[in-house]
Amino acid sequence: MLGELRAIVEQVSNADSLDGALAILVQKIRHTMKTDCCSVYVTDPQQQLLVLRATDGLAQEAVGKACMPLGEGMVGQVAVREEPINLADARSNPHFKYLPETAEEGFLSFLGTPITHHRKVLGVLVVQQSQARSYDQSEESFLVTLAAHLAGVLANTDFQTVLSEPNQRKRLKAIKAGSSSSGIAIAKAWINRSSGELEQQQIIETDNIEHQLERFNVALEITREEFHSLAIKLSEQLPKDVASIFDLYQHMLADASLAGDIRNKIKQGYQVEGALRMVVEHYVQQFSEMSDPYLKERAVDVKDVGLRLLHALLLGPSAEMFPTEPVIVVAEEVTATMFAQIPRQFLAGVISQRGAANSHAAILARAMGIPALMGLSFDINKLRGCELILDGYSAELFVEPDKIVRDEYLALLAQESELNTLVQQDLDKPAMSLDGLEVEMLINAGLSADSDIAINAGADGVGLYRTEVPFLMQDRFPSEDEQFMRYRDILNSYRDKNVCMRTLDVGGDKQLPYFPIVEENPFLGWRGIRLTLDHPEIFLVQARAMYRAAIECGNLSIMLPMISCLNEVDEASRLLEQAWVEVLDELGIDEEPERPKHGVMLEVPSVLFVLPELAQRVDFWSVGSNDLTQYLLAVDRNNTRVAGLFNTFHPAVVRALKQIIEQANQHAIPVSFCGELAGDPVGALLVLALGYRRLSMSSFNLAKIKYIIRHVDVAELSALGEQILQSQSGSAIYSLLFRYLEQRDLSQLVRVSKH
Ligand code: PEP
Ligand code: MG
Repeated sequence: MLGELRAIVEQVSNADSLDGALAILVQKIRHTMKTDCCSVYVTDPQQQLLVLRATDGLAQEAVGKACMPLGEGMVGQVAVREEPINLADARSNPHFKYLPETAEEGFLSFLGTPITHHRKVLGVLVVQQSQARSYDQSEESFLVTLAAHLAGVLANTDFQTVLSEPNQRKRLKAIKAGSSSSGIAIAKAWINRSSGELEQQQIIETDNIEHQLERFNVALEITREEFHSLAIKLSEQLPKDVASIFDLYQHMLADASLAGDIRNKIKQGYQVEGALRMVVEHYVQQFSEMSDPYLKERAVDVKDVGLRLLHALLLGPSAEMFPTEPVIVVAEEVTATMFAQIPRQFLAGVISQRGAANSHAAILARAMGIPALMGLSFDINKLRGCELILDGYSAELFVEPDKIVRDEYLALLAQESELNTLVQQDLDKPAMSLDGLEVEMLINAGLSADSDIAINAGADGVGLYRTEVPFLMQDRFPSEDEQFMRYRDILNSYRDKNVCMRTLDVGGDKQLPYFPIVEENPFLGWRGIRLTLDHPEIFLVQARAMYRAAIECGNLSIMLPMISCLNEVDEASRLLEQAWVEVLDELGIDEEPERPKHGVMLEVPSVLFVLPELAQRVDFWSVGSNDLTQYLLAVDRNNTRVAGLFNTFHPAVVRALKQIIEQANQHAIPVSFCGELAGDPVGALLVLALGYRRLSMSSFNLAKIKYIIRHVDVAELSALGEQILQSQSGSAIYSLLFRYLEQRDLSQLVRVSKH
């Protein structure tokens, strides 16, 4: 039956509407199982009903009308028991209930299975037969398997409904996205451009090759020029590394790459449009087939470059339409160029049908502070002109929201900007608690260094400088000199403040385009220090570049990521020593300056059991709660399916954090906290309650957390810490802390979803 099952799933997935998909499904199941009837009921949670949504066998007039209360009838029983029910004679069952509008009196046997998604029963899939029939085990499994596939389709129902039935819009609550960049945007949708254009180009043969080559050269020049000016425009708004995406685009336009291949195709006798289409499709397919997620994403870049060439070819220069008011840009795939094209003041938000945390678009959205949603499946053209509310905090989208939702979000926006003004006012003041304890406030930087510098005034230093970005944005490892200049710039921009730079932490979800790593479990694989210790040449080049910058500027410390055992620390320390000696030698320095301190990230649970030994080996620790949570709880931090289990307030995480701070105090080793938790209002309270006094967070959160610290009493929090350590669930711990914020009238600083 596997063949049939695959065929059904494929046809259902390819249907262009939910009703179309369900119609195919019931018909195919009926046929494959040689049964008299197949139906799908969908749960209406508000009314506590199961509504007949599709059938092949029952009266068609009953679709959308016939409904069964949850718990009643065999269908209702399947839903509440959350398991299949298989009866040769359903009518003799005490729960049997007849729905007259379906005209189902002819059916005796019943097999129903729940359609469950994320623990919620979205509906029931049923087959029936007029004669007594015992559906066998394999038929039952077949139906259960199909129901599991159907769950994914049904989970998106709200979205499909809102797009196809405008009168349903008011009933719609919100559509969940896969991932997001925080913030709220309320604006009209602006569809960037039709994505199908390239595929619509005809492949036409010609013998006028010279003319075609000439047309292509003109288009190429226009596109190159366009990228050049976009890059200049972007470089004013963005860090160099992020804007350097355009270098990648320029590379693609080089003769050795896309342009050369297109030219060859033209020389084989094709018109430019067709040649362009063939080459781009070939590249896109090659990239899309790669299992490496980073390289897969590059298919988007190729497509973007291809579309730009096509536009230049067909429309000449400056053919783009720009929005003239703030809009939410909606695209099949948001690309780096879109961000650059649209003036920042008109870019209220971004929605990308595809994309993930690793795509350039997501990196850019975060760097520019633009609210964004990624990973929503829909036909983007249907959103044209719709008013949208994008909630990047809760990863939700509202299409044509009603007045109540709109007013609520307008109020939230106003509140957000009011709070922002409030917390920004005292940015320069120290983070001194009501009872006089000063907390050291550091920032996490690296992704948007240039904009971090703007609020450098409010920070006591940099607690985590992620050095990955220049590595990610290039097409080869950056050279020692390139790294040196970059690190020197950074140290200079934080003069008089310590900058803690982390050595390269790639692998996992951060893939280098030019050094792909294909692994079954990348987060448990060749990541961070594991990779750089296996490639001392990469580690040494980076360490030397850092030390050279430190000798000029003096305000550096070095941190090692993903340490899981003492050997790694010893090996890395040996390499650091080697790099230091080499640099001193090369620079001819006789009088040795103070060597930058070096420390480790505490983010792999194994190190919790060797903390005393670790304290002997390094100068400081920094807690990475993002990875520590992922590894302690065995929950992939990037996987939306288990996102609900990623709970940094879990008692196990909290007790681990306590153990670290106790050991740090015992061994008198400085410890900071640089995971996301420190930048979250409730999370910051937690770490303060546990005893942490040095917090590092993204610059966006700094003012808010400083404000909170100035309005809490650390002694009270420490007492609360005792209660927290006795708590048995993450939600209990969260509630204790949230209540404290409420008592101190600070709870409005926690951005909670209103829906
Ligand atoms: C962490 O793991 O908590 C951390 C700060 O590092 P990253 O998020 O870069 O893995
Ligand atoms: Mg980490």
